Amino acid sequence: MSVINHQYKYRLKPKFGRVYIGIIMALATAFQVSADTITYPNGAHVAVHLSYDDGLSSQLDHAIPTLDEYNIKGSFYLLPGSATLNNERQVEVWKKAAQNGHELGNHTVFHPCSSKGPERSWVKPYASLEQRTPEWMAAEVKMANTFLFLLDGQKRRTFTPPCFETMTGSGDYLSAVRPLVAGVYGRTLPKPEEVFWSAHNVSGQQLINYIKRSATNPRTKIIGIKFHGVGGDYLSVSDEAHHELVQYLAKHHDQYWVTTYKNIVDYIHQQ
Ligand SMILES: [Zn+2]
Repeated sequence: MSVINHQYKYRLKPKFGRVYIGIIMALATAFQVSADTITYPNGAHVAVHLSYDDGLSSQLDHAIPTLDEYNIKGSFYLLPGSATLNNERQVEVWKKAAQNGHELGNHTVFHPCSSKGPERSWVKPYASLEQRTPEWMAAEVKMANTFLFLLDGQKRRTFTPPCFETMTGSGDYLSAVRPLVAGVYGRTLPKPEEVFWSAHNVSGQQLINYIKRSATNPRTKIIGIKFHGVGGDYLSVSDEAHHELVQYLAKHHDQYWVTTYKNIVDYIHQQ
């Protein structure tokens, strides 16, 4: 009883509260309708995107050839500071991938993540999120945009926050970065309209099952699978498992609109 009284004491006057709730309900309904009515360019009701973080060599060696074999476009969140971008051959391969329709996404320059906890000993002091500010993060994302523009000539791309963490030592940086990118990975629609899975050490069938299971929810409009290593490097999925998934998606192109995350975000914003 005391809890109820306490809540009531701090609530807006009932009349204004009702108006406020009414506005929220109207907005929620409007949003729901728009999400429910999305039909993608190929007639599918669900979009699927495959994305790959950290610009790893195994993605060049295994993921891109498989995607190209089935003419599926992926989103690759590169790190200008990473070792895969320090030689001519790899730079050329990334350029070619972009010309071929794959998205080169922004993942910052130095991959700042929280350095808290013993499992984060790999985070270098200069890349510790706790040492950053939102302004600094925005400057770094701008820098990565410029670098990627030199590779692909594109001025808009989506962004994946490293480690999916956005809290700096002086507040969340996402609002400072949003205006600089076409979209933020996994944050275009609320759950369960949009879902994604960071997959590693799983079979092709498990990946396929995730897509199938997610698509059974009629509210789900965007399904993502996030990879790191493919047939090598770290947090890996085997080349075979990745191949099995890509083959499945190519076979069911009438059910899923499989494209880059940027294409999906742009399409939804146009609706
Ligand atoms: Zn990463």
